[in-house]
Amino acid sequence: MAKYTGPACKLCRREGEKLFLKGERCYSPKCAFERRSFAPGQHGRTSGRSGSVTGRESDYARQLRAKQKARRIYGVYERQFRRYYEKALKARGVTGLVLLQILESRLDNVVYRLGFATSRAHARLLVTHGHFTVNGRRTDIPSMTLKVGDVVAVREGSRDAKYFKELPAFAESRLVPAWLSRDLKNLSGSVLRLPERSEIEGNLNEQLIVEYYSR
Ligand code: SF4
Repeated sequence: MAKYTGPACKLCRREGEKLFLKGERCYSPKCAFERRSFAPGQHGRTSGRSGSVTGRESDYARQLRAKQKARRIYGVYERQFRRYYEKALKARGVTGLVLLQILESRLDNVVYRLGFATSRAHARLLVTHGHFTVNGRRTDIPSMTLKVGDVVAVREGSRDAKYFKELPAFAESRLVPAWLSRDLKNLSGSVLRLPERSEIEGNLNEQLIVEYYSR
């Protein structure tokens, strides 16, 4: 499946719920879902394709929607998402949870969870522009999987940029999950452990995702 490059808000309307893809806007009255909470398109109000509005969905449709929703929340290509699933399947532990832990361990997600970006898409952009280091080494790969003990930091050469100078004030109000630690003074953070299921937000149904791929 090709990468979706259209308006992010349409994805929320398609899924029938807020996916929080656009940072601060998602919490404001400008949120498109707040204004039009039905699926996009000519038949959006009547087709029953947005989320579970009608309850008419088949098992396959529910599995597909669960997978698409997770893919959209984390901004992952279909092929890569399937690779994550295959990796989770081979790993020890509950496949669905391992899959979510892999997604949460992506560098762009960790940057977002640390409060260093307003959304995952924003985090991805900051990483792509080379503003971060992992264990002291510059990286521009948002999909990089972090391990326990890895340290993420704003690159020395980026700290004078206006955005990063103002970042501590912005990030302070954002809670950091217990599986990460954050040092705002040094604009860095580290992975303390893998997240537990209760620490993963987003109304995700990993069981349906596993069912989708094991058909
Ligand atoms: Fe979704 Fe955010 Fe757009 Fe609202 S503003 S529809 S939550 S991406």
